[in-house]
Amino acid sequence: MAVLPIRLAGDPVLRQKAKKVRDIDASIQQLIDDMIETMHDAPGVGLAANQVGVALRVIVIEVPEEDPDDPEAPLQRHQVVLINPQIVKRSGERRLDEGCLSVPGYKGEITRSVSVTVKGLDRDGKSVRIKAEDDLLAEVLEHEIDHLNGVLYIDYLESMDQLVKLEDEASDEDEAQAKDNASDEDNALANAAAAPSGAARGGS
Ligand SMILES: [Zn+2]
Repeated sequence: MAVLPIRLAGDPVLRQKAKKVRDIDASIQQLIDDMIETMHDAPGVGLAANQVGVALRVIVIEVPEEDPDDPEAPLQRHQVVLINPQIVKRSGERRLDEGCLSVPGYKGEITRSVSVTVKGLDRDGKSVRIKAEDDLLAEVLEHEIDHLNGVLYIDYLESMDQLVKLEDEASDEDEAQAKDNASDEDNALANAAAAPSGAARGGS
């Protein structure tokens, strides 16, 4: 296994329409293992093969998941590996803040589907069908399959002015906290605890 360099926006491989995998051979298994290690290292919640320079239709995803029988239990990690994934059904609209490992340091608000059904093959070549609704998995499935079609989330923004720099956001919050501090110290501490949550979420 190896951590591979992640290609950044501007690299032509991110704009290629990735090709279907015809034979799930040892090189594909190696690619999947390397992509999982690269996603963990980043860290991120998903990765498409063209983000590591390989224009083939392979995605890996790992999102935190609650145990439905015990919501208090520590979050499990739900890992999805999909070869030749295809969205077969999607519905609804929701606005989400999104980031991408290929566009580091930024986020932007875009529209995604509420419900997404995807079919594809797992790493053993078995057909799988995944339905995700109103959760991070639904968002990441659309995001990664977009990558395979040469699409980045920033393409959905009306202008690049809508990209939010994560550092800028943090410094704006610092400023706001400083103002709060002057008037109400308890409030400022509450803001400090709440502030990093959005910015800390991994890209994909
Ligand atoms: Zn991405």
